[in-house]
Amino acid sequence: MSDCIFCKIVAGEIPANKVYEDDYVLAFYDIAPVVPVHILVIPKEHITSAAEITAENSFNVAKCFEAIAKIAAEKGLESGYRIVNSCGEDGGQTVFHLHFHILGGKVFKGL
Ligand code: 5GP
Ligand code: ZN
Repeated sequence: MSDCIFCKIVAGEIPANKVYEDDYVLAFYDIAPVVPVHILVIPKEHITSAAEITAENSFNVAKCFEAIAKIAAEKGLESGYRIVNSCGEDGGQTVFHLHFHILGGKVFKGL
């Protein structure tokens, strides 16, 4: 997707502070962190949102969650963290390339 900011990060066309990369997944620090540890985990393949996950592309979600477990352990989040996905406009999604927020370094209570 030529106009997708996260595809541009995957392509190296715009910089990001990367924390993890493999063949399927890229993770980097959020540009506007809302908690002490705020990392975005994205599939390299462009999937617009969680609403677009299918039998054909759902392996990307598993790969993202495998990466999340590794990153969280590496970043010292053993006591817990929150994984957030914003899906669609009413879900608060602002970048339309599937991503999971790792939110850590604070204690969450409830939703
Ligand atoms: P959403 O609002 O879709 O759940 O999350 C999008 C996230 O992407 C926001 O937290 C926002 O700060 C982050 N973001 C938007 N543009 C960029 C960028 O160019 N680089 C990085 N690292 N994060 C971005
Ligand atoms: Zn994209």
